[in-house]
Amino acid sequence: MLLYNTLSRKIEEFKPLNPPHVGMYTCGPTVYRDIHIGNLRTYLTSDILKRALTLNGYKVISVMNITDVGHMRYSSEFNRQIDPVMEEALSEGRRPLEIAKNYTDKFLEDEKKINILPADVMPKATDHVKEMIEIIKVLIDKGFAYVTDGTVYFEVKKFREYGKLSGNTLNKMDQLLEAVRVSVETDKKDSADFALWKKAEEGRLMKWDSPWGEGFPGWHIECSAMSMKYLGRHFDIHAGGEDLIFPHHEDEIAQTEAFSGGKFVNFWIHTNYLLVDGEKMARSKGNVYLISDIEKKGFNPLAFRYLTFLAHYKARMNFTWKALEASQSALDKIYEAASGFEEGKIGCAQIETEFNQAVNDDLNMPKAVSVLWELLGSQNPTSAKAQSLYKMDEVLGLKIKETAESFKNIPIEIKEMAYTREKYRKENNFEKADALRRQIKEKGYTVKDTEKGSQIKKTHI
Ligand code: AMP
Ligand code: ZN
Repeated sequence: MLLYNTLSRKIEEFKPLNPPHVGMYTCGPTVYRDIHIGNLRTYLTSDILKRALTLNGYKVISVMNITDVGHMRYSSEFNRQIDPVMEEALSEGRRPLEIAKNYTDKFLEDEKKINILPADVMPKATDHVKEMIEIIKVLIDKGFAYVTDGTVYFEVKKFREYGKLSGNTLNKMDQLLEAVRVSVETDKKDSADFALWKKAEEGRLMKWDSPWGEGFPGWHIECSAMSMKYLGRHFDIHAGGEDLIFPHHEDEIAQTEAFSGGKFVNFWIHTNYLLVDGEKMARSKGNVYLISDIEKKGFNPLAFRYLTFLAHYKARMNFTWKALEASQSALDKIYEAASGFEEGKIGCAQIETEFNQAVNDDLNMPKAVSVLWELLGSQNPTSAKAQSLYKMDEVLGLKIKETAESFKNIPIEIKEMAYTREKYRKENNFEKADALRRQIKEKGYTVKDTEKGSQIKKTHI
């Protein structure tokens, strides 16, 4: 299997450290806000990668952290640095961990809707502060970190290989920082140094005792602590969105390798951004879309999953409602075709090989999808097509078999009526939705609303 490795800037043959086991860590969501379709695009890459590795016979252990410690972030909404935990807890009069739990549950539901297999381990940052403190202590002992007034900084220039992932070496950073240097009061030895532990400011809700006083961990240290705890000091794959290459992943490498004295991760995989109508998503522009927005417009969330396959993960993806509509209709065609297939045991070996080659070629999903259409349009017996299609779906995750089953023997006219009814229902247009339900009934079919969407059955046997 070939994978692009951000660390070597090359496509490399993937070889696990301890075959057949593969350890894989993905930087998970910050659970103090909604998870949008851009975040989900990045998690879909990890999902496909895990499925592809499994297809190749590997036994994958996947870890995704839940960032439930609040970190200061620039907010375009407030036009200043905010700590989302504090802001939200204060504005809603709720406790931070309550809010985190609520957003975590919503995130897991969204993942399920687009058929992302949950990570094997989902550790929470707030449960691992002890481990983070232990790493920081060692970094201070080894001379890689220093304490200033209750805050601990990692001294970047002590780690010689700093910059090997992002290319932002210290020399380069000096120039960059010089260009933007403003008179910020700082107690750091160097502006490139980053915080491992921060002193709790007045009124902070989430804080812990530490050898350096009351405070809270820096953002990067949580991923080092949790990945090492569940996957070991040296493991196979670390994934995330492109914006995490610097500083998050660069800093993770520095602090982990300084701590362990050895190599941290072999393969770094980064997914490019999802844009909406060619623009970055921003609350101020009103174009931050969630899975619930997709559902409200009557789409199957799996149509979004399909849409993400049409751009390679290293390429930018442009989300438009029109493109989603095209994906929905492609998906319906696949379900429709599959519902007419006979069951079979022997697939189309050559097409399956082509599919596997595409997936193994640095997750070339656009090619994999084109192989799927080649299969559907081929002259093979439908039983063979079914067998191959369901095998491909172990990677694609489009729930083809179960959806096709529910489609079986239902005339297209009824399905279209049910689809339109579902759309009305999501728009809260219950009058029109009920009228359609009656019409469907008159034609001898019943629509039932289930968790998985509407199901149509013949009324009489
Ligand atoms: P965050 O909660 O901001 O740490 O983001 C969670 C993950 O989503 C990170 O891996 C980000 O790199 C990724 N991410 C954020 N925005 C986008 C986007 N528009 N497209 C793709 N990935 C994104
Ligand atoms: Zn991380």
